[in-house]
Amino acid sequence: MSTTTSPTATFPIPFKTTRSQAARVLAERESILANPGFGKHFTDHMVSIDWTVEQGWHDAQVLPYGPLQLDPAASVLHYAQEIFEGLKAYRHADGSIWTFRPEANGERMQRSARRLALPELPTDLFVESLKQLLAVDADWVPSAPETSLYIRPFMIANESFLGVRSAHRAAYYVIASPAGPYFAKGVAPVSIWLSTDYARAAKGGTGAAKCGGNYAASLLPQQEAYENGCAQVLFLDPQEGKYLEELGGMNVFLVMKDGTLVTPELSGSILEGVTRASIIQLARDRGHEVQERKVAIDEWRDGVASGQVVEAFACGTAAVVTPIAALKGKGFVAGDESAPAGKLTMALRQELTDIQYGRVADRHNWLTRLA
Ligand SMILES: *Cc1c(COP(=O)(O)O)cnc(C)c1O
Repeated sequence: MSTTTSPTATFPIPFKTTRSQAARVLAERESILANPGFGKHFTDHMVSIDWTVEQGWHDAQVLPYGPLQLDPAASVLHYAQEIFEGLKAYRHADGSIWTFRPEANGERMQRSARRLALPELPTDLFVESLKQLLAVDADWVPSAPETSLYIRPFMIANESFLGVRSAHRAAYYVIASPAGPYFAKGVAPVSIWLSTDYARAAKGGTGAAKCGGNYAASLLPQQEAYENGCAQVLFLDPQEGKYLEELGGMNVFLVMKDGTLVTPELSGSILEGVTRASIIQLARDRGHEVQERKVAIDEWRDGVASGQVVEAFACGTAAVVTPIAALKGKGFVAGDESAPAGKLTMALRQELTDIQYGRVADRHNWLTRLA
């Protein structure tokens, strides 16, 4: 199935690369890259690094992409001890490949690991793992406008043990999936559904960690959103059910009449998005005031009616910035579902993607070259 090539020694631990013998041929890859969709196709290789209490991180490898062998008693399958990350590789006009603020993802993965009682992967090893994968799979980064390679690092507890405690064995993997433009027909504003029956996170829970368990809890309310003609679900704070938190997988911003941006403060149950932090910076660079504070749901609903709230958007790596046309909930609609995207929303989206694709100067040094 595969042959072993020479080990590629790198700091801080060496990676061994095994080239896939089942790698797709050029024509096959090109047909996938012509219409990749999202999260459907995967590159020819993946990264795997093992961890044990005794040995720490060891056995770093780039391997042919393929199924994992897991013992049925692996703790991740029973107690959901799992975390993940999501970032993208962008091909620039000169063919070079870059990623966006990977240290921020690496540091966030360490915070997620602490909360889920998983081992922390050193940030330089995290960044190196991306470079190692791209060294063999660079051809999988598409070049059409607004396309990218979505990179999914993740970590699981894989000790075979049904006792309830943090696992003594874990594994870190990186897989990657070519991604088409998120909005195939141009950026389209969406309606979002206000969930009042469910929360995605609890006080003291795992809301600030990027873990699969949070997503499992968001799927039923997400289904309710679809049934009500909405693309995403908005969650409120778990204690009072009064303040905005975030969507299932995106942070949220409001734009006020005077140009001020408002976004929920990091409450301990909100995921700290890299896109969120970058938008705050870009908006401040443009001279906008940005407030991170508690935002009552009534401030949004009443603000749309009074004209105080003029734009709303969600943001995250996958869709970058998604304009929100209307907020819907049981018995109300705030906003106009057919409203066009807000001006500032689209300007911030444009500026962020211009930086990511190397079309404007990277004045904050946000880009890291991968290949
Ligand atoms: C990943 C994620 C986000 C967005 O984070 P980015 O770093 O901007 O991609 C927001 N909310 C949740 C729950 C997430 O998992």
